[in-house]
Amino acid sequence: MTAATGVAVAGATGRVGRLVADAVDAAPDLQLVARIAPSLRDAGAGRYGLLSDAIDEARPQVLVDFTRPDLIAAHAALAVEAGVPLVMGTTGLTPEERLDLDGAARERGVPLFFAPNFALTAVLMIRFAAEAAVLLPDCEVVEEHAATKLDRPSGTALHTADVVEAASGRRPPIHSLRLPGLVANQSVVFGAEGQTLTIRHDTTSREAFVPGVLLAIRRVRDLPAGLTVGLDALL
Ligand code: NAP
Repeated sequence: MTAATGVAVAGATGRVGRLVADAVDAAPDLQLVARIAPSLRDAGAGRYGLLSDAIDEARPQVLVDFTRPDLIAAHAALAVEAGVPLVMGTTGLTPEERLDLDGAARERGVPLFFAPNFALTAVLMIRFAAEAAVLLPDCEVVEEHAATKLDRPSGTALHTADVVEAASGRRPPIHSLRLPGLVANQSVVFGAEGQTLTIRHDTTSREAFVPGVLLAIRRVRDLPAGLTVGLDALL
């Protein structure tokens, strides 16, 4: 029998991180070795307030990050420095930061994975939008998220705009809504004379992200060194 993969989760008290940590804990092929969040400092075995302490003491084989946009660049740099493969859900990395991170990870031989959206319906929405954009270049993106989401536009909307632009040569404008009651939804709306097409995905609970994150945890160590982006790469 192969040994379970040791996994640390940064942001383990958060809305998504808590679900991910519980799912890792319940998976027979994974072992949750660290829950990390400032509020877990002094909370007992397997709980850490600082990412650096968790890496040093719990020695995870894979690190997962669902923290905050202003922390992810520093957290990723720590993982690369320590040689720990990283699965990132936290959004907010700039294109320059992604490039720098990719270069550093290649140099150190560390695989990093980031999905702007771990929900399968979001991945399919982007795939179908790319197909539509070839024939329908007039497009706008409307993304709707919980009022608590710190960054805008969302990482998913930016990724959608990249994909649509690559397919049609036109970058779609992005509209961002932040309202209580929403989780994460997006419409990609195409218009042509006398007709429109809306490709929409709705997330009704954060459980939607968990299967994609578990897939990435199981696959990240087999990815090439450097940054791989998008769940599509694993499907
Ligand atoms: P959240 O509920 O606000 O949780 C943030 C977590 O980060 C908390 O556990 C918090 O701990 C922790 N944290 C804060 N400072 C930290 C530090 N210095 N070191 C380690 N942990 C720290 O956020 P969320 O809604 O779960 O979202 C987290 C991130 O994931 C956001 O960037 C969001 O946009 C992104 N997200 C991505 C996807 C995707 O599919 N890619 C899906 C949903 C969300 P305390 O409780 O101790 O403050």
